[in-house]
Amino acid sequence: MQALPNKAFYAKLQQTYESLPSLDCGNCSGDCCVSPTMTAPEFVLMMQAACQLFTEQEFIAWLKKPVLEHLNYPGNHHCRFQDTDSGRCKVYPGRAMACRLFGHEALRHFENADMEFCAKEPGNRFALSKDHLENIFETIQTIHHNCDLYYGEPYFLMSLHLDAWIDFYYAPNLVTNRPSLASLRHFLDTELHLPPINHSGHTTLPGKLKTIDLLFHYINHGDKTQCLETLESLLNDFPSVGSYYHDEAKQILQMLQK
Ligand code: SF4
Ligand code: SF4
Repeated sequence: MQALPNKAFYAKLQQTYESLPSLDCGNCSGDCCVSPTMTAPEFVLMMQAACQLFTEQEFIAWLKKPVLEHLNYPGNHHCRFQDTDSGRCKVYPGRAMACRLFGHEALRHFENADMEFCAKEPGNRFALSKDHLENIFETIQTIHHNCDLYYGEPYFLMSLHLDAWIDFYYAPNLVTNRPSLASLRHFLDTELHLPPINHSGHTTLPGKLKTIDLLFHYINHGDKTQCLETLESLLNDFPSVGSYYHDEAKQILQMLQK
């Protein structure tokens, strides 16, 4: 299958991953492994690692695995890369930054109301400093921008979780009439060549995008009542899409409620 990409930003991303101190999770084999949220370059790197580690047949079977709800984190999907028997990660070298960071105490400096933390106190959890973590976030953001991935309103598609990325990749029609998604589509089309499959979708991403379109239609027409209803829908009706457009919807809601 396709070789690992060798562009400078992938090397930088890998280097950034490797700069993180490892956690000692003892006997816990990935209780936190929900479908991880990541940027587009991370998704490409993860898929490329999977293409190297899996045969094409295994990869297609993996893509088609149905979504499983995570028992420890209701409302989240079980990560499709986690081995259901051993709990081990099947794409360990290509796992996302979110996978590598969970469990580090430094994350608490960036705490918000929706954030979850590991309660198992893994060894080495204080080894990552706040400054190092800030540098990591900046680097990921710079890589993102260097890939010409800029998102303006109404789409802050900075990151999706794994199942939603797969849906986006296999549904090029989602970009039709949404020019703000074009650079992302172009990036994925250029960087990633996954096997063609008949993909029926793991998430309700298409419905959420349509609802965001509606929201901006109501904003443009000054229809506050419909805006409020649409925002409530965005916040509550699309749990399978994870945190995508959650913060943005909350911010718009707060502005309208003032
Ligand atoms: S970070 Fe926490 S939940 Fe995740 S594998 Fe380590 S100990 Fe387990
Ligand atoms: S990619 Fe690997 S480490 Fe990350 S959530 Fe999935 S199984 Fe866990």
